[in-house]
Amino acid sequence: MNNLSKNIFWGIATLLTVAFIFSLFYSMEKAPIVLSLDQLAKKINTNEVEKISVNGNDLEINLKSGEKAVSKKETEAGLSETLKNYGVDAAAFQKVSFEIKEESGGRFWMGILIPALLPLIIIGAFFWMMFRQAKAGMGQAFTFGKANVKIFSQFKDRVAFKDVAGLKEAKQELMEVVDFLKNPKKYLEIGAKIPKGVLLYGAPGTGKTLLARAVAGEANVPFFHISGSEFVEMFVGVGASRVRDLFATAKKAGRSIIFIDEIDAVGRERGSGLGGGHDEREQTLNQILVEMDGFEKNDGRIVIAATNRPDVLDTALLRPGRFDRRVILDLPDINDREEIIKIHSIGKVLSKDVVLRKVAERTPGFSGADLANLMNEAAIFAARKNQKMIFQQDILDSVEKVLLGPERRSRALSQKEKEITAYHEAGHALVAASLKNADPVHKVSIIARGRAGGYTLKLPSEETYLRTKSQFMTDLAMMLGGYISEQTTFGDVSTGASSDLQSASGLVRKLITRYGMSEKLGPITFGKSEEMIFLGREISAERNYSEEVAKQIDEEVKNFIDKAYEAAKKIIISRKKILDKIAKTLIEKETIEQEEFDTIIKSFNLKQVVVK
Ligand code: ADP
Ligand code: MG
Ligand code: ZN
Repeated sequence: MNNLSKNIFWGIATLLTVAFIFSLFYSMEKAPIVLSLDQLAKKINTNEVEKISVNGNDLEINLKSGEKAVSKKETEAGLSETLKNYGVDAAAFQKVSFEIKEESGGRFWMGILIPALLPLIIIGAFFWMMFRQAKAGMGQAFTFGKANVKIFSQFKDRVAFKDVAGLKEAKQELMEVVDFLKNPKKYLEIGAKIPKGVLLYGAPGTGKTLLARAVAGEANVPFFHISGSEFVEMFVGVGASRVRDLFATAKKAGRSIIFIDEIDAVGRERGSGLGGGHDEREQTLNQILVEMDGFEKNDGRIVIAATNRPDVLDTALLRPGRFDRRVILDLPDINDREEIIKIHSIGKVLSKDVVLRKVAERTPGFSGADLANLMNEAAIFAARKNQKMIFQQDILDSVEKVLLGPERRSRALSQKEKEITAYHEAGHALVAASLKNADPVHKVSIIARGRAGGYTLKLPSEETYLRTKSQFMTDLAMMLGGYISEQTTFGDVSTGASSDLQSASGLVRKLITRYGMSEKLGPITFGKSEEMIFLGREISAERNYSEEVAKQIDEEVKNFIDKAYEAAKKIIISRKKILDKIAKTLIEKETIEQEEFDTIIKSFNLKQVVVK
């Protein structure tokens, strides 16, 4: 109920109460004696009457005995005349005092009006409320464009960085944002522009929402939370108007964090909406961009957006001045998992036999949300058995429960999968370390990331804009390293190599058709490579060469791949011991950082070779 109808309700209630009390008093008054006019005349003659008040046709009579009486006079005639007609002595009449009262005495009117008006008032109020409701219903159609923003005040359920385990790099990046929000002056005075947008990438449950809230908590600013899917409505323009509303609301709050969860719901590449252009989404996205461009230099609003599908985002979102800061949230490795479990065991009664490290060992591939869920399941499990505390076995049993849950099975690794992934990644890493032109390996991990089971992170030692053919050949050999390692170790290959093969083939095709790096086909480009904006990226690369050339390209692709394959295979077979060592370390620790990796490589005194 809104305020107005509440007021009405109370008004009516008060009125009813007053009327009720009034009528109570009214009936409680001693019922007066009713006199007929001739009785009154007699009483006047016998000198019993003290005073007569005339109120219209009503007579109120005060008797000398102290009693009260009422009577009625005739309408047409005056009182004295009437009484005389009834035989009142003139002398006796003189002794009575008279008072003429205004007929509109409050009591009289109330007595008439309240019973008459009450039903009217009630009916009126009833209609009025109905009308209001109908209007509110209509209004809903008009307030459609209001954003359904959730605001977390900075005091209640405030989250800080200490509540977020692991994610060290991400926290470091966001520390900067916190500092911007806390001391904007420092940055403005030196001429730095405060960033407007931060994009958080990460698999579901890696703590994107949590981290965004932690930033607001650390900086002690309001946090506006809206999900991208809430912008998408049936009517074109609604999303855009909600965006406007959201940013306006935040503007009133001053320095604040605007968190747009699941931005991929609106931030998809515009125009690539095959199957009906999605005007609504496009408009919403445009509005977000317009709002972000409109931030004043120092108004201190920062937009944090989260997505688990960075690949589909519109490039306009990623342009400098918009979401130019990108923070990647990886699935937690074994140490992070231990920390996360620790956080989520706060407030739970754990038995002394619980070793959190062991739990972390058993949960490769679990996200932060999975681990939070795991600890909760364990607590429920223990409570159901009427235990006073949670034992290690309860947690391990819950691991299985969470694992066997339908969605998790594909993400968590079995022992066999762990081995395959470890050898696969070790293959990439070993080939990279063995080749002269290769970028140094920064991290090898068998923690799933995106669709890949694990990853080998190699970063160029210096920023380069040009790459040479021999560098590409090195990359190719590296890409194939995982596949070859699986093949030679297990005599079998898994689907884990599919994306490697895809990118290898893609790369070779580019080398040949765009960079002219094939000696056979020469310095010619093949196919039109402009980006067709309205049809989505590279949806169709127009062919401008003959069937025969196409066949030659295919052959060249195979040649390139074969060359890289041979080089990588030679390395893997001749350096099997190192491969084993890397793989075993991975199985044990899941992640190898650069330092440790270098130590392993150095201990084998490995010589670097070149792909020919
Ligand atoms: P996302 O938004 O990435 O899908 P959330 O931030 O909603 O994930 O995470 C869901 C829950 O998982 C959080 O509320 C928290 O309880 C738990 N969680 C996830 N990551 C972490 C972490 N790094 N440290 C502590 N808890 C975490
Ligand atoms: Mg989330
Ligand atoms: Zn691979």
